[in-house]
Amino acid sequence: MQTHYRTCNICEALCGIEIQHEGQNILSIKGDPKDPLSRGHICPKAVALQDFYVDEDRLRAPLKKTADGFIEISWEEAFEITTNKILALQEKYGKDAVAVFLGNPNAHNMGNLLFMRPFYKALRTKSRFSASSVDQMPHHVAAVHMLGHSLLNPVPDLDHTNYLLVMGGNPLVSNGSMMASPDIAKRLRAIRERGGKIVVIDPRRTETARKADEHLFIKPESDAIFLLSMIHVLVQENKVRLNHLEDALTGLEEIITLVKKYPPEKAEQITGIKAEKIRSIALEMAAADKAVLYSRMGLSTQTFGGLCIWLTNVFNILNGNFDRVGGMMFPRPAIDPITFSPKKGKPKYESIPLSRVRKLPKYLGEIPAASLAEEIETEGEGQIKALLCIAGNPVLSVPNGKRVEKAFEKLEFIACADIYLTETSKHADIIFPATSGLEISQYDITFLNLAIRNIAKYSPALFPKKGNVKHDWEILAELTARLRGEENPGHTPEMYVEMALGMGHYAKEGLSLEKLKAHPHGIDLGPLTPCLKDRLQTDDDTIRLAPTVFLEDLKRLDESINISNSQPDFPYQMIGRRLLRQHNTWTHNSHRLSKGKNECTLMINPKDANKIGITSGNTVLVKSRIGEIKVEAEVTDEIMAGVVSLPQGFGAGKKSKMKIATAQNSVSINDLTDDLRVDTLTGNAALNGVRVQVLKL
Ligand code: SF4
Repeated sequence: MQTHYRTCNICEALCGIEIQHEGQNILSIKGDPKDPLSRGHICPKAVALQDFYVDEDRLRAPLKKTADGFIEISWEEAFEITTNKILALQEKYGKDAVAVFLGNPNAHNMGNLLFMRPFYKALRTKSRFSASSVDQMPHHVAAVHMLGHSLLNPVPDLDHTNYLLVMGGNPLVSNGSMMASPDIAKRLRAIRERGGKIVVIDPRRTETARKADEHLFIKPESDAIFLLSMIHVLVQENKVRLNHLEDALTGLEEIITLVKKYPPEKAEQITGIKAEKIRSIALEMAAADKAVLYSRMGLSTQTFGGLCIWLTNVFNILNGNFDRVGGMMFPRPAIDPITFSPKKGKPKYESIPLSRVRKLPKYLGEIPAASLAEEIETEGEGQIKALLCIAGNPVLSVPNGKRVEKAFEKLEFIACADIYLTETSKHADIIFPATSGLEISQYDITFLNLAIRNIAKYSPALFPKKGNVKHDWEILAELTARLRGEENPGHTPEMYVEMALGMGHYAKEGLSLEKLKAHPHGIDLGPLTPCLKDRLQTDDDTIRLAPTVFLEDLKRLDESINISNSQPDFPYQMIGRRLLRQHNTWTHNSHRLSKGKNECTLMINPKDANKIGITSGNTVLVKSRIGEIKVEAEVTDEIMAGVVSLPQGFGAGKKSKMKIATAQNSVSINDLTDDLRVDTLTGNAALNGVRVQVLKL
């Protein structure tokens, strides 16, 4: 029997796991108590890693679509067909005719991150899409305009704060999002044990809310008004504290002026939260010696996502808790993406390019994913004619997924790299079968940059590749070489990791790949410490409190207040929710994660259920502007009246190598979400707040 230590790379939490195995037979998967970040914690998804390794229904050889269905082909044929098609279509229609869509697993795979940039360079397309714009793009937009770099994202210092306000997030289920905070239950409990307080504001009484000191319902999409009134209270009550950032800020006067018109009494009418409660939370946070406001997906995936994340930063700064122990902090990662793409002196963010069809802003060089269908459908220069999809499933993960699927009919070529035949890859001409979690080596470049403690950890692959599969990065490297007409130089992710560690913050202290290999539990580099002034990337070395793009977007917010919220045809607002045993759209083949009671239900408040005449277990028809679904109702006062909730990531059927079974008890929320609803400031999809009708069947 052997023991292997690694980091689970399914989600952002970075849990250390301990795997006991005999050869390729796994005996157990447990939390690694010596992992300095997760301290022994895991969730049920980590145990399912073995399911994905052994799953007979995974793709194990390259596939080509024929008139009679998919057939297995050689890697050489798969690469040759794909390269020739890309080059021919780019020759005929231009470089941008070939689009790339990256799914969320790319962020959890060091090989993909390291080999994507040369692949893009070889492809030379501006038609780039990813899951970022159906998730966290507003965080990047706030970071680039306020701090000068889209990857300079703050994380709450959970281990030292004494007051945690959570808006639109459910860290007890996610173990952190835009923050790697495994073992979150203990960490939240510790806040209360040291006399601190946790408050959750959300249209649903989430798992986190149930463990908090206080939970307040808030009307969907009114969060920006709530935040403006919180800042109003700080200013009005003379509670603004800037601490060590006082000499590094611009825009304070603009903020003081603009928040005057958002008193808590005005916010009460819009948010549904009493004015005195808004005042008391703001003042409690001002009085706490260490306090932090953490906003997440409920705020970033709504019509005012950019404003919400900007105002979250502004509140934390004005409350004296930015870049300060116990507040919002910045990790100092061993591999620092800012080292490789410094922006100082080059304020590219002052002129943001726009998408071809809808003229939406392109941040991180990406067209908003909500525009994917229209960029394929709309004729003219730059129209997309081919799609390369890497570890993504936009048919289920992008708003109005059915329109995306229909648009695929117009494409002349699709190639996908995936571990499964999916609702997207089933449309592909070529599918490259990729490796899964236990077959890859990993240094988490993305999420160690968002961890609540400075950590470095490298995990070697546990098992050899199973079947005739390749790592995603090998696929990217080979396509890159062929597109360039060159020999594949045979670089590995480890070569780049070694080089990046050598250029990193801890190189002088001897941190190297060799050292990490000798420390399989990871190396603890200590708690987060103030470092923003060293890492700021604005051209004048200041934090910009009031960038013009946000000030101008306030007009849109003000106009929305004056629009009547009553829509008789669609009286309910729908929000998403995350579940512990599911992740995005790809974990449904694991029997461990799919057994048990049906979790794909429409949560609805008892008052609303009474009006419609339904009870839990009834099947209801849910309609939005773009589509309709039938789903089981779950009547619960966990959700506020006027709001309904569906989980994300469902609608996926059980996969086999050549076909996908019809999804049972499972519908895609994105058959209701509307691709025309976006945060026009950031281009991010507005998945929350979608207007729906619920009917008894
Ligand atoms: S919380 Fe995330 S990283 Fe941790 S075990 Fe679960 S899936 Fe893996």
